[in-house]
Amino acid sequence: MKITDLKVAIIGNLPVVRVTTDEGIDGIGAAETTKPYLKSMIEFYRDMIIGKDPKEVERVMLGIRRMGAFKPWGAAVSSIEFALWDIAGKAAGIPTHRLLGGKIRDKVQVYNGNVRFKRNGNEPEDYAASMQQMKDHPYNFSIIKEAVSFHGGMNRTVDNFYFGTSVTGQRHPNRGTITPKGFKYLMKCVEAMLDVLGDDVALALDCGPGMTVPDALKLAKELEGSNIIWLEDMVTGDYTPYVLADLYKQITPYTTTQIHTGEQIYLRQNFVELVERNAVNILGPDPADVGGLAEMKFICEYADLHGILFAPHGRFDGLIGLAAHVQLAATLPDNYLAFELPQADFEWWNDIMEGHEDLEVKDSHIEVPDTPGLGVTFIPEKAKRYLRDEDADFFDN
Ligand SMILES: [Mg+2]
Repeated sequence: MKITDLKVAIIGNLPVVRVTTDEGIDGIGAAETTKPYLKSMIEFYRDMIIGKDPKEVERVMLGIRRMGAFKPWGAAVSSIEFALWDIAGKAAGIPTHRLLGGKIRDKVQVYNGNVRFKRNGNEPEDYAASMQQMKDHPYNFSIIKEAVSFHGGMNRTVDNFYFGTSVTGQRHPNRGTITPKGFKYLMKCVEAMLDVLGDDVALALDCGPGMTVPDALKLAKELEGSNIIWLEDMVTGDYTPYVLADLYKQITPYTTTQIHTGEQIYLRQNFVELVERNAVNILGPDPADVGGLAEMKFICEYADLHGILFAPHGRFDGLIGLAAHVQLAATLPDNYLAFELPQADFEWWNDIMEGHEDLEVKDSHIEVPDTPGLGVTFIPEKAKRYLRDEDADFFDN
């Protein structure tokens, strides 16, 4: 079998990859719905994979992996890897999880980092009200994540939250020392959410990047003994193009609150310091950023040998990403906790794909389907109307 083409279309806001072969089997992959700008980046790899056997996933990946980078750029390589596993599974007539080692669980746990309800304001009672709605959601989530501190924009919504002046431009990495007033406000919001959740549901907090090491340790110490399952990306993390494991090493060993990072990191090599030095308790790479499903599997196994847990990022990964997450999570060792449930960016995604109906969430879990490949496919007749003019031939050949 040989790869004949790599096509990219932006459907909704999602960059979707379609890899075609000379045997009529195709595979699909996707990046995040927040990255429609990735199209030309993904097309960059076309000439490097055409003519190769897509069933030999690792051999194809060796040819392109080094041409990727930390988030957002690793998504281009990762989305191609998804499509290769989809082809390999379909060609063998088996679900991708069997090619990744086989499932060790029949249903996989998900957490809520994406099902949101509009908050009426920024007071602790507003955080509590929104948390109550998330707790009451029919998916019955076992873990709910909320954005606080710099990640939750508290530096913009609260006067004098920190000793600094926020740059309000998009994606500016504000950071600095939180004021006593800011810290009290942060704690009140967190306590209000913990009161709502009680012992039924664990609370995860996405906190930065942007916090200083002393503030991060202070927050972790204050929350010891509470129902906080992790503090995410306090110092580095989301879209930070480096790791700085040493900074986490000044926090993690000194608190019983679990410390989490990793969503922006590309490739296993960039986890070495975090893992070997036990700089965090939980890693949360995103398969659509880290280099793909096999890359995730390796990192999770490696983390397990060091007593580190695994809670993958995924909120913007769409339906194709959801299917990929389920295939992967089924195969991960018991340090696997839960992945962040992705949702489609538009309702109509459910009309243009099949297979997603097998990925329903019940009691915070999804049953692992046995459909060949990743388990979701386009219905081209229905999907075509959502193609942009320049992508009109996406489903041809
Ligand atoms: Mg995050």
